[in-house]
Amino acid sequence: MTHRITLIPGDGIGPELAEATRRVLDASGPTFHWDVVDAGEAVMAEYGTPLPEHVLESIRRNRVALKGPITTPVGEGFRSVNVTLRQVLNLYANVRPARSMKGLDARYQNVDLVIVRENTEDLYAGIEHMVGRDAAESIKIITREASERIARYAFDYAVANGRHTVTAVHKANIMKLSDGLFLESCRTVAAEYEGRVEFQDRIVDNMCMQLVQKPEQYDMLVAPNLYGDIISDLAAGLVGGLGVAPGANIGLEAAVFEAVHGSAPKYAGQNKANPTALILSGVLMLRHLHEQEAADRVETALREVIADGRDVTYDLGGSAGTSEMADAIIRRLGAPAHA
Ligand code: NAD
Repeated sequence: MTHRITLIPGDGIGPELAEATRRVLDASGPTFHWDVVDAGEAVMAEYGTPLPEHVLESIRRNRVALKGPITTPVGEGFRSVNVTLRQVLNLYANVRPARSMKGLDARYQNVDLVIVRENTEDLYAGIEHMVGRDAAESIKIITREASERIARYAFDYAVANGRHTVTAVHKANIMKLSDGLFLESCRTVAAEYEGRVEFQDRIVDNMCMQLVQKPEQYDMLVAPNLYGDIISDLAAGLVGGLGVAPGANIGLEAAVFEAVHGSAPKYAGQNKANPTALILSGVLMLRHLHEQEAADRVETALREVIADGRDVTYDLGGSAGTSEMADAIIRRLGAPAHA
């Protein structure tokens, strides 16, 4: 069976990471047909938008996409392509695992967290306006429907993956209505899973401190959009940095797999950036495609290369380039069982 995948190389370091990831996945066993489409800064001049309609059509058709990071202008210019994609395709669940790996110079060696971030609303709804010249308002949208849906996704994920505790992250002591509704929705859903998955909640500031002090005590976190975004970068920092943090955006009709990190423009085109985060996003994609054996093989080969430490990029203390690290992973993959 051939998997048809939309591949969006992205901006900055995106294209070189996408190429490295594509080569590793092609060597992992399953057959892929890559539908390569561009989005972001590079297509603005040609299409007048960073997210042309044919890119969305390709994802809708293939239902699965692997995406490099896309630059978002700060404070002006076009709206984030990343946020727009999630909203237009209703990719409501952003799943970001943070897991320790041997060989990484990280503060902790025993972290195994999965962060489930609501991906469609909260302050990312993009409803902002000026109030006169000297004040600005951003509107935070929290709905029962989206909150229950993300909580259910987290609990279902826990059941399917043998996880034991879901912690809801919020600031309901201050935002009693919006975060209060999020927490209430999580509690409602948690009741359906009683006896199977434990539930607890933490106020977001306390959560940050707890994660820095004792991350090994947490299993799965579920959070509204903004807290989920911040906490997942924090969790990435606990296990070795943005270079190793993968992500998945999951909806009912499509799924888009991408690293947590951005386009790191200062490293673009230098064959320096770490491909681990996008390759691990590819592993999440393989699991989504039910290619468990290939996913295990890529993950094992990647972990071996990192533990060995000779063929890793600068951020992991090595001197290998992006493509040399991918070569080392491919060498360790060996032949697929059914080849
Ligand atoms: P960034 O993640 O691009 O880079 C921050 C720093 O992290 C880099 O300078 C680099 O030191 C390190 N880093 C990141 N990825 C790395 C990798 N693969 N290997 C080695 N080191 C790596 O964050 P930023 O500088 O805040 O954002 C740059 C652009 O990316 C912005 O336009 C931002 O909007 C965009 N962005 C896009 C996405 C996305 O596409 N989903 C996510 C975050 C940021």
